Amino acid sequence: MEDPVETPVSRRLSSVKNIIIVLSGKGGVGKSSSSVQLALSLLSQNPSNRVGLLDLDITGPSLPRMVGLDIPEATVHQSSAGWVPVYVDNGKRLGVMSIGFLLKDRGDSVVWRGPKKDGMIRQFLSEVRWGELDYLVIDTPPGTSDEHISLLTHLHPLFTPTLSKPTTPSSILISTPQTTALNDTIKSLSFTRKLQLPVMGLVENMSGYVCPCCNEISYTFGNNTNTEKIFKEQNGVDILGKVPIDTVLVGLLDSVSKGELNVDVQQQHQQQQNGNNEQ
Ligand code: ADP
Repeated sequence: MEDPVETPVSRRLSSVKNIIIVLSGKGGVGKSSSSVQLALSLLSQNPSNRVGLLDLDITGPSLPRMVGLDIPEATVHQSSAGWVPVYVDNGKRLGVMSIGFLLKDRGDSVVWRGPKKDGMIRQFLSEVRWGELDYLVIDTPPGTSDEHISLLTHLHPLFTPTLSKPTTPSSILISTPQTTALNDTIKSLSFTRKLQLPVMGLVENMSGYVCPCCNEISYTFGNNTNTEKIFKEQNGVDILGKVPIDTVLVGLLDSVSKGELNVDVQQQHQQQQNGNNEQ
């Protein structure tokens, strides 16, 4: 018997094992960079992992550039089974979908009202031919806006235990240690609680600068205990990690060089950083 709550979105995403929604209270805190780093980490974790990266920042898509696919050849194809994402690697382990790939001119602005954005988000969720995925990482715009409400509304059927194969989405919060950014991230946390979206924890980004000469750490954006106090102690949210200000990463993310090399270098850089952190 067909599942009573099955929708085109739940049907399409039934081949995805885990959905991770990346949220932040403010823009510029490194949410998109963190989404890319998360996708790359998941790929490195297991050579058989397949990962999708969905850019829901409809008016300010930045993922194509960050994965080195801000190039005219990177376009989405329509097949009989749906939209084919743009793959970063030849092995098709990391697929990316963004409105950036659908614009005639990458510099075009997207000025859409809520209903049109909602239609696009529904299409992204129901029509992209991801195939079997271990993880779908969804990068959202900052704050809690139309896009977030659309996303959670369309994903809602996945939350229901009546589905034969439920994929409950969960989320990760990204913030810098500044009090204003943390306070805005509390609003994102409140949003997740209202909509019963599980939160895995918070990643503190740009969490201090390590001087390359003397290794002294400067806490550029505030002291290093703010995040624990506001999130862990007062709200019971785990701190998943702290990522320092990293000038090499900025160069890699901001570079517009052609795809594969850029991502390979990012992955190598990330592995090196992980190694340094473990020492
Ligand atoms: P958001 O998605 O929150 O708007 P982005 O991921 O676009 O933020 O990041 C904003 C800018 O900060 C980008 O230029 C990015 O390269 C830079 N950035 C992000 N994380 C770091 C970091 N850990 N160290 C240095 N620069 C970073």
